Amino acid sequence: MISTLLGSGDPPPVIIHAATRQSPFLLVSDHAGRAVPEALGDLGVSPEDWTRHIAWDIGIHGVGRLLHESLGATLIEQVYSRLVIDCNRAPGHPTSVPKLSDGTSVPTNANADEGCRTRREREILHPYHDCIQEALAARRSQPTALIALHSFTPRMNGADRPWHVGILHHKDTRSAHIMLDLLRQEGDLTVGDNEPYVLTATSDYTVPRHAEAAGLPYLEIEIRQDLIAEDAGQAVWADRLARLLPRYWDQLTTA
Ligand SMILES: [Zn+2]
Repeated sequence: MISTLLGSGDPPPVIIHAATRQSPFLLVSDHAGRAVPEALGDLGVSPEDWTRHIAWDIGIHGVGRLLHESLGATLIEQVYSRLVIDCNRAPGHPTSVPKLSDGTSVPTNANADEGCRTRREREILHPYHDCIQEALAARRSQPTALIALHSFTPRMNGADRPWHVGILHHKDTRSAHIMLDLLRQEGDLTVGDNEPYVLTATSDYTVPRHAEAAGLPYLEIEIRQDLIAEDAGQAVWADRLARLLPRYWDQLTTA
């Protein structure tokens, strides 16, 4: 018998918010959730650390849902914490089951054997990416941009991060440059071009696998967490993206 990780009391790993209108966007949220399978307890991490950015992308859950409501686009969310398995890392990636995250050690992961990793991949990582793949396959005849939603911690490695928002890109930079311009035109934002992270084929997984490999346009959007930690900020950013994303799409498809 195959040993399993998720039990009857654990939530399914993926939530799909189906489209309510025709939209060119597929919204994905790799770090929307911070559930932990019951069998893994708290991974040896303190309650205080579970509230930090190491557990999930603070605020992005709310932004994603509001954006789904206003655009009517499908939203696919990962339910489990990035401390269980980081769904924006390829299977087997050295940091996908982190032993250490921003100074906090994760004892259960440090002692995890290959079987533990395999179960997390099989029951959490793969179903999530299969779901994205199926959603894209179902839209084959419809022009589509993949919109990957993330948030970043305001301070890392002792340095404050000045950007309000960042757009990450790799080989296909056309979408990113359109969106960077639109964000700069807002006038009051410090906009990061491949900041606070550079998108690469190995540091990320969702965009390289589902967009770049398939030649699909994409945006990887990073919003600073202090701006969206509360409901009001989430509404401001969801409104802004709901306004700018259709303009981005118009420019991309009419240029
Ligand atoms: Zn993220």
